[in-house]
Amino acid sequence: MSTPSQISASPAGHDPGWRFDNSYTRLPPLLFQRATPQRFPQPHLVVLNQPLAAELGLDFSPLSPAVTASLLSGQVIPPDADPIAQGYAGHQYGGFTMLGDGRAILLGEQLTPRGDRRDLQFKGSGPTPYSRRGDGRAALGPMLREYVISEAMHALGIPSTRSLAVVATGDAIHRETRLPGAVLTRVAASHLRVGTFQFPAARNDQPVVLALADYTLARHFPEIEPGPDRHLALLEAVCERQARLIAQWQLVGFVHGVMNTDNMALSGETIDYGPCAFLDTYHPEMVFSSIDHGGRYAYANQPAIAQWNLARFAETLLPLLHADQQRAIELATERLHQFAHSQSAHWLAGMRRKLGLATAQGGDQELCDALFEVMQGAAADFTNTFLELEEVLAGAAPGDKLREPAFAAWRDRWQARRGAEGATVEGSLALMRAANPRVIPRNHRVEEALRGASEAGDLRPFHRLLQAVARPFELDPALPEYREPPPAGSCRYRTFCGT
Ligand code: AMP
Ligand code: MG
Repeated sequence: MSTPSQISASPAGHDPGWRFDNSYTRLPPLLFQRATPQRFPQPHLVVLNQPLAAELGLDFSPLSPAVTASLLSGQVIPPDADPIAQGYAGHQYGGFTMLGDGRAILLGEQLTPRGDRRDLQFKGSGPTPYSRRGDGRAALGPMLREYVISEAMHALGIPSTRSLAVVATGDAIHRETRLPGAVLTRVAASHLRVGTFQFPAARNDQPVVLALADYTLARHFPEIEPGPDRHLALLEAVCERQARLIAQWQLVGFVHGVMNTDNMALSGETIDYGPCAFLDTYHPEMVFSSIDHGGRYAYANQPAIAQWNLARFAETLLPLLHADQQRAIELATERLHQFAHSQSAHWLAGMRRKLGLATAQGGDQELCDALFEVMQGAAADFTNTFLELEEVLAGAAPGDKLREPAFAAWRDRWQARRGAEGATVEGSLALMRAANPRVIPRNHRVEEALRGASEAGDLRPFHRLLQAVARPFELDPALPEYREPPPAGSCRYRTFCGT
């Protein structure tokens, strides 16, 4: 795992501006184990996120690409870093397992110039004490996929872990075929997950659960007052962030694909971009993941699954919520019901903006439900339906789908609803244009970019896609093809976990 030749300090002139303070290593030792990134033959920088580096207070520009690549693949460990792998458990497809960072190493927590604390984590940097039989490695294609989709999510205004860099390792990893290896540097508000709490809770280690709960409060919810009710407030706050997040996913047609409890971050950031994908054609039961046979993580199932995961989180907190277990369960159950209400409310508020409606009125839920029924019947493209509604509102003739009788009837209903609040065309369009992305990372474009990069070493399609998704509410006139759905007759898109 660790090699004696590993350089343990950053040589002079190799410091891009590290400012580490590793609070996680001050938690009880049950929660993590020290780990060292493995040696790679020839690390090579594939992509670096300069604006994100600047936000982190890091400047790699004075360093050579070789030094940057060796820093961002863990070949040189900065003096104040303290690399660890975190322990966690998780319900994976409903079954409980003890896990941990099997292919990720937390380099340390960077304090940013704005005063934020951000985890810098290598993904794919080799085995850790939690790797079980895995090799701890990641392939270039999936790491570039996480890079582009996480950055697209951020640009869409959806809380997400970020991607600082992808470094190709220069060696091959063994999957069904040999694939180029890579390390992604992931940046996160933290890597605290529902599964992090399940890890000590499964051992019935109450002092560790308490330490973790108070750590999470201090790190993510400093506004919560200390006191006996703080853990109930923690549950409520985590539920509220998830309610908002899942609504945001649904509003852009995002399917996370692997909402195991170890992949739900307590910070409210989207985390773990394995088998995720965006809907092209709308269908509520859409699943992309090759292993999600039962549709557990289907598009429309995401709110219910989030609530199920939050119930697992609440279970870990029960002893902290009330001395009387029955009362603790009642208190937790109330919060979980509140999650469902709040999630629906965030969704409906977002749908109103997507439809150019400035006020809330009775019947809005039915209006939105009816739209999705019509979209499903017409096999309409999720993203472009809203853009076409904008265009029709602005005076364009409706396209084929929107001319279908059911769609035409729904549009009359929508116009009547707009009339009922006295909406102007300009007012509605302003709301819609700010809410409806013109560009999402469409599956066929993501695949095209990854094919170019991994098979042909051609990063141009990847960088074009990054440029297109970086400003999703504008359509770059130079990049009109990113609005197009996949060609008719394309195969059903499939995604894979842990590749
Ligand atoms: P995921 O499906 O990516 O959320 O991963 C589930 C668990 O499997 C996590 O604990 C990972 O660390 C672990 N894992 C995934 N791929 C590997 C790998 N190649 N080597 C070791 N552990 C892995
Ligand atoms: Mg995971």
